[in-house]
Amino acid sequence: MENTLWSKYDFRDIPFEDLELVGQRSLLYRDLFCVSWLLGRFCNYKCSYCWPYARSDKKDHRTTDLVLSTLAEIKRQARERGFNSFHFSFSGGEPTMHPGYLKILQTYSEDLPNTNYQSVHMTSNMSPGIGWLKKYVEATKNLHRVSVTASYHKEFAVPERFSEKLIFLQENDIQVTINMVMVPERFELLWKDALYFHEQGINVTLKPQSDPTASKVVDGYSKDQLDRLQNGMPQMDYTKNRLAGSEKKSTRPSYSGPKNRDLYDESHDSVPPIMQVEFKDKNKKSWYMDQAERFNAFNFNRFQGWECSSGYRSIIIREPDGNIKRSYSCHDEPLGHIEKGFQLFDSPKTCSTPSCVSSADSKIPKRKEGAQWPLWPGDETFERKN
Ligand code: SF4
Repeated sequence: MENTLWSKYDFRDIPFEDLELVGQRSLLYRDLFCVSWLLGRFCNYKCSYCWPYARSDKKDHRTTDLVLSTLAEIKRQARERGFNSFHFSFSGGEPTMHPGYLKILQTYSEDLPNTNYQSVHMTSNMSPGIGWLKKYVEATKNLHRVSVTASYHKEFAVPERFSEKLIFLQENDIQVTINMVMVPERFELLWKDALYFHEQGINVTLKPQSDPTASKVVDGYSKDQLDRLQNGMPQMDYTKNRLAGSEKKSTRPSYSGPKNRDLYDESHDSVPPIMQVEFKDKNKKSWYMDQAERFNAFNFNRFQGWECSSGYRSIIIREPDGNIKRSYSCHDEPLGHIEKGFQLFDSPKTCSTPSCVSSADSKIPKRKEGAQWPLWPGDETFERKN
């Protein structure tokens, strides 16, 4: 096997039992507020394996005006709590089917001068054509970072067209990864597809299948398959390589807000941005992972009793019920409703949920009870303890 198939940094060495701080680095080191927004269940594909609750044939989107006023209210409350950098992640159903999607992105982008940083992500089946993708590139061109998780659905997508679109996004300075749920029964077939995309210079995120309660990985993986899930296909900076190939450089702006100096250690500056997640263990040693999607492959998803900043510096919005919650996994009461308003927490709160299975949730900074780590720059709840 070629080198790029395996992470040189062996994630299997991480002492998961001894960790006392977990978080996405952009959230740990920046004044970043994170929103994960499921815009509706409507999807233009109808894959045979899709869960009935995950899609709908009926257009179920809220109005563009309501989305925009909610977006403004999120920013207002986040700023009140000291966060002036934003990450919005849109999914569905198929988010590009929202009739106001490009307008929402354009309006979001226009607020850039008033922020320290703004990024956007979407999870899409990549059904829109190149003409639409050009408009997407235009609407997001000024943002600090733009990323796409492309869900590959074999029953509908043609691999060559699918990768052409993703390469087009890379050429326009957009980070791309393809999501693949590696079902044990079809593992080797899916691995072949994954290899095809990998060879095109596109990241592939290999996700293990979870059990119906979404608390642990299903049985049925061989040792070799589990190894591939745990340490295979590390994320690479393919977008940077693609730009370099056409002698271009990224012109995206840099983060200009406060930094979390209390977390820095000597390894900090040498860690490549592609390592999105950081951990600290009980001996204060730092560990890294390319992305939180890998946590479940290690059954690392239990944070009950930890102090978690979700609900304070991150929320999720889920349609069609319109609830605004701390996170997807959390059993806590909703923070509110898109039609009726919502209220963020005033500080991080203890996790009371047995398993935190969505990477959108597990990446939100959290610390073990009593651990002395700041979860964002200027975290006073940390300073008060010292
Ligand atoms: S389940 Fe919720 S409170 Fe618990 S760790 Fe995950 S995001 Fe935080």
